[in-house]
Order: sequence, then C-alpha cells, then structure tokens
Amino acid sequence: MNAHAHFIGGDWIGGSATLPVINPSDGQVMAEISRGGAAEIDRAVGAAERALDGEWGGLDATSRGRLLTKLADLIRRDVDELTRLESEDVGKPTTLARNDATTCARYFEYYGGAADKVHGDTIPFQNGFTVMTHYEPHGVVGIITPWNYPLQMMGRSIAPALAMGNAVVLKPAEDTSLTAIALAKLAAEAGFPAGAFNVVTGLGEEAGAALAAHPGVHHISFTGSQEVGTLIQAAAARNTVPVTLELGGKSPQIVFADADLAEAGTVIVKAITQNAGQTCSAGSRVLVEDKIYDSFVGDLATRFKALRVGSASQDLDLGPVVNRKQQERVQGYIDLARADGLPVLAEGEMGGNIPGDGFYVKPTLIGDVPPDHRLAQEEIFGPVLVAIRVKDEAEALKVANGTDFGLVAGIWTADLGRAMRLSRKIRVGQVFINNYGAGGGVELPFGGMKGSGHGREKGFEALYGFGSLKMVAIKHGV
Ligand code: NAD
Repeated sequence: MNAHAHFIGGDWIGGSATLPVINPSDGQVMAEISRGGAAEIDRAVGAAERALDGEWGGLDATSRGRLLTKLADLIRRDVDELTRLESEDVGKPTTLARNDATTCARYFEYYGGAADKVHGDTIPFQNGFTVMTHYEPHGVVGIITPWNYPLQMMGRSIAPALAMGNAVVLKPAEDTSLTAIALAKLAAEAGFPAGAFNVVTGLGEEAGAALAAHPGVHHISFTGSQEVGTLIQAAAARNTVPVTLELGGKSPQIVFADADLAEAGTVIVKAITQNAGQTCSAGSRVLVEDKIYDSFVGDLATRFKALRVGSASQDLDLGPVVNRKQQERVQGYIDLARADGLPVLAEGEMGGNIPGDGFYVKPTLIGDVPPDHRLAQEEIFGPVLVAIRVKDEAEALKVANGTDFGLVAGIWTADLGRAMRLSRKIRVGQVFINNYGAGGGVELPFGGMKGSGHGREKGFEALYGFGSLKMVAIKHGV
C-alpha cells in the first residue's frame, strides 16, 4: 500500500514514516498517510512564505476569488468521489457525507465571491490629512482541523484564509486526512500558485504541535478539543500570534410547554444523533419544563427507539463513531449513567449486516440527569442525550449557563418575548429560536464563548478574522 504524500510547495512529498487509516465501519486498514513532523512543517511554512513573496502574494483580490470559485466548481464536479472518501474515512452515512462535500464547495463559492468585497474605511480627521484603513492578510496561516466534519471544517477555515490572501499550511486530523489530500489535488488543478495551500499529514503531538509553535506562522486557526485548544493558545502566545479557537460544547435545547413540541422533538433528536453525535454544536442537553417533562421526554424515547445504526454505506440514521477510543469513551459515559442509577430511557437499534469490528454505539437517551452530574457537564461527543427537568425560565437559564462551555443554545417556545429575554442572557456564540442550526448556513458567523473558544468562523466575520487592519494617515496639507 503506497502512503499518501504531503502536499508542499505544489509538490507531492512522501515521508518515510507512515500512519494507517482505519475504516470505522469495519475496523480495517483502508489506506496509509505520511507521518509528518517538524521537518515537513518547516518546509511547508517556507513554501508558504515564498508563495506570499511570489505569485500568490501578487494576485489581486478578484483573481484570488476566481481561483476559489474554480475550486468550488471542481469540488462539485468530484462530489461523488469526495462523498465516498469522506463517508469511508469518517464512517459517515453517505447522505451526510454528500451534504458535507456540497457545503465545502459552498464555502469556496461564498468566499470566492467575497474576496474582492472587503473594504476599509476613510476616517474624518484633521484638515490636511486623509486617513484610511484597509485589510491585509496575516501572512502564513496554520490551520488544524478535527475528524468529525473534515470537508466542512477545511472549507470553513481555508476558504476565508485564502480569500483574504494568506498562504495556508493545513494539518488535518490523523484519523481523517483523505479528503484533505483530495482537496490539495483539486487546488493544484484549479491553478492555485505553488505554496498558497500546503497539507502536512501526521499526528497532533508531532506535526500539529510543530505547526502551532512555528515562528514563521502568523495566525493559527484551530478546531478541536478544549484540551488541545489550550495547548495551541499557549504555543501561539510564545510567538505573539492571534488564534481562532473553535472548541467543543455542551449545548442546551430548552423546551417550554407552549412550543411546537412535534417539531422540537424531530429537530432535537437529529441535533444529537447526526454524525453519531460527533458534532461540536450537538444539542446534547435537553432542558424540559417540568409540566411537560414526562410526555415530551416519553416522545423523545419513542423517537430514539426508532433510530437505526449501520455502516457508512448502509446510510441509516447513524454510522459508527470515528475510532475505537471514541467508541470506548462514549460507551463509558453510558455505563456511568447505569452505574449511577440514572434512568436509561431508550436506545436505538443496530441495523442488520453490520461488520463486526466497526466502532458502533447505540444512540441513548438518559433521563432526570442532575445538572451537575458529569453526564450533564462533560462533552461526550457521541449520540447520548441527557434530559434535565427545569421548573421555569429562571431555572432553565441557570442550568443552560451552568457548564464550562458556551457554543450554541436552542430555545423552543411560542413566546418570542421570553425567547429574546433568554437569548440575551445565555452565554453562547449563537442562539437558535424554534430551530437548531438553521441548516448550517455558511453565511452565519459561528464560534464560542467561555470554554468553547473565541473568534468567529463563517460569514464575513471569518474573513475579517483572517485579516489584519492597517491604518494609513497621509498629511497632504489643505
Ligand atoms: P483534538 O483536539 O484531539 O484534535 C483536533 C486536531 O488537533 C487534530 O488535527 C489533531 O491532530 C490536532 N492535535 C492534537 N494534539 C495536538 C497538539 N498537541 N498540538 C497541535 N495539534 C494537535 O480534537 P478531535 O478529537 O479531533 O475533535 C473533537 C473535538 O473537536 C471535540 O471536542 C469537538 O467539540 C471539537 N470540535 C469543535 C468544533 C467547533 O467548531 N467548535 C468543530 C468540530 C469539532
């Protein structure tokens, strides 16, 4: 088996050390990637610097935008192949993987169109001066992505970084690097100048740590766990460079008695079981008003029992989780619920003909979880929903804000006054009222507060985040 090479300075460079790529649906080795480290990262940062000094740095914004749009077209052309790769690599049901590939294209399309629409200002100042601002790229941007939505996370960070004119060194998650390699091939075909976009595969503690610590990197965009996010921020601090951290969540869905409960039930189940619960913005706590708790949670239980788990290609409600470690971790939380006597109200079904060595976990609903229990506080990152009883709006707010995280909240009520009151007091980066996720629109700024990180991805906010504002004051006299 030939290992996939790194993509550095427009060339494919194989490493002598390799890592196996495991298919989560059957636990078998499906490919090998190169195991890069400090040397490959250094080479990629050098290639990125040369790109900025050369052809890439010399392109105007419209030309950059055209390249991004071309890449979007190529992603759409190859959507079947990207869907297959992503689905096998992550264990994603194919329908979801196809959505991810399409969304990745949408990021390049959106930021391709936005590249030449970033304006500075002129600032009224003393007579005899003209003062203006404009945005410039940071320079070399290091991007480190997680394994749960590889194509979407890459599009989300790489597209605005390139649109602003930065050169990128990407370190994808070691479990799921195959679509990063595919994206690099398409970027080369689209005509991006050598070194504008580089991919170094490898382990987090080797290639990832080397990228975060490299003195030639001017901005770091990290999506992943809180634990690693704090390491990245510490590394960036040593080089005094800005970081965008998109970390995890323990996002509440608050359900009041006056809500459209059927709609809420459908959306709440999807929001915790999509991608087998491995979604940073998963609605992993459902806070239900006491007077409807039994009936609403009973309805959720019925819905959970109807869910079916299968291999990625079976394309059922849920696929496997990404690896053995994650499977054991999630199962550990379900075992903890049983050991602590919490009611396990429902679990889904394993579909037929599931490969024996895959990393499967049944979606599970756990009831009456005390708000301070580990299951209600820690990010499980699996298809486990914890239900919490709340007596009123005030208690719902207290419980919603009562974790270290602050990524997303869902509010379900017909009383928009109450919804708006709560939305202002909940300490999260985005609030969804009578919906959850708004279909994941690339236009909508996304990011966290508290332990969920800082900085914003998506929308124009991300573009500005990948730029540095420069003020120019001209004294020309009156
Ligand atoms: P992780 O933090 O283990 O890994 C993320 C990336 O960091 C990988 O590429 C990994 O190789 C790299 N990495 C690991 N150790 C490193 C180190 N010491 N230095 C530099 N890089 C290192 O996270 P994961 O397990 O891949 O992803 C799951 C986590 O990501 C969850 O907590 C989830 O909530 C979070 N996440 C957040 C968002 C968001 O937008 N907020 C999106 C997706 C995932």
